[in-house]
Amino acid sequence: MRRNRRVKLVATLGPASSSPEMLERLFLAGVDVFRINMSHSSHDLARELLYAVRRVSKNNRYPIGVLFDLQGPKFRLGTFEGERVALKRGDVFRFDQTESNGSAQRVFLPHPQIFAAVEPGHALLLDDGKVRMRVEENKAGRISATVLNDGTLASRKGISLPDTLLPIGPLTEKDEADLACALDLSADWIALSFVQRGEDVADVVKRVEGRAAIMVKIEKPSAIDDLDAIIAAGDGFMVARGDLGVELPIEKVPGLQKKITRKSRAAGKPVVVATQMLESMISSPVPTRAEVSDVATAVFDGADAVMLSAESAVGQYPVEAIQMMDRIAIQVEGDKGYSALVHATRVEKQPTAADAIAAAAHAIADTVKLAAIVCYTATGSTALRVARERPGLPVIGLTPVPATAHRLSVVWGLHTVMTSDPANLSNMVSKACTIAFEEGFAKPGEGILITAGVPLGSPGTTNMIRIAFLNDRGEPVAG
Ligand code: PEP
Repeated sequence: MRRNRRVKLVATLGPASSSPEMLERLFLAGVDVFRINMSHSSHDLARELLYAVRRVSKNNRYPIGVLFDLQGPKFRLGTFEGERVALKRGDVFRFDQTESNGSAQRVFLPHPQIFAAVEPGHALLLDDGKVRMRVEENKAGRISATVLNDGTLASRKGISLPDTLLPIGPLTEKDEADLACALDLSADWIALSFVQRGEDVADVVKRVEGRAAIMVKIEKPSAIDDLDAIIAAGDGFMVARGDLGVELPIEKVPGLQKKITRKSRAAGKPVVVATQMLESMISSPVPTRAEVSDVATAVFDGADAVMLSAESAVGQYPVEAIQMMDRIAIQVEGDKGYSALVHATRVEKQPTAADAIAAAAHAIADTVKLAAIVCYTATGSTALRVARERPGLPVIGLTPVPATAHRLSVVWGLHTVMTSDPANLSNMVSKACTIAFEEGFAKPGEGILITAGVPLGSPGTTNMIRIAFLNDRGEPVAG
């Protein structure tokens, strides 16, 4: 079983996609990672979904990733008398800490952290930005704001504060419980929502102690301001364009998508482009031309993965949406201009053995015209460094560690196979040849490049490159 593309596909699970039959169909159509959105899943449901994905993975002998997406802090208004109120541009509106039904003049805001941090001039975005306000005063437990556009506000709608650095940690109480559940179930990736600072990410990474990889959703202006620290701290990133386009002017999202993609790639850490990629396929069997172009742009930019949200969670055409992404990716990756575009941003090498070996592997494979690069990888770091080069030939990661195989499922170009550590150097070469042959990546007469670490089986020691050619039986040619 192999994919015919390098970019990976992530599908969000929901009522439209959670039955075991549908999971199997979605996997066969191309899904590499399933996302469980903890905003909408109980622990029981999450467990059921994770087990079901693991069964598909096992039955197909293919490492599928599971991404647990934590909800993060969501701030909501209190209630209104009659459930909703109409506001007019220029009105002065008040948020306070009095627990009673609101009116067209005021509402209860049950979040003391907001009162502790908001300042005059800061923007307030209500109901995903449908109503915008500017803070005039924050005094004695009351925030007064000017309404900037006509609109309606309803009870319990969300409030976002794009300009305010809030005095909150990275995880809410619900996130803490969901994180414990994710770790208990050995989820592969955990996504953090509404991250503000690199230090918050570092804190979670430290606490998780490698039991899962941490994907940071970039969706706040403060995260953009601290992007370098966030990228240094996290294991992977998501361009969460939905909330990013609420918290920042929507026209800034494309430029930020390119910036986040470029920086993640430079760091050799996977980046997922998410939200509204094939939005019209929620209710239509074919996407718009603009949506096809949007997916293609992310592929041309060298993103590791593209993601479906509502399209696969609640849409009418989840399988068709994945098939469409698969077809777009294959077409783009076969385009004559693809290689030049994907390599347009040169990645600086770091002075490490892993980077030197990855760059050398890329250069050798280009010169000798080999069929595949095979990387023995325990932690996944060598495979990540090789993928960072975006080589033009398939990369096979061989690992004895299930968690590594599952985590690498989101990484550009990596086909990962679980196998035990080789017993010796000749076994290392024959195993690599046999797997490349059996998985359909190398034919008799073709050559592969192998990277590994000696002594074999010790993590973090990648220090050798070997070229081997296959005989008619897919075994290494002697000598
Ligand atoms: C987003 O905002 O784009 C996103 C992926 O997050 P969520 O689906 O949790 O809103």
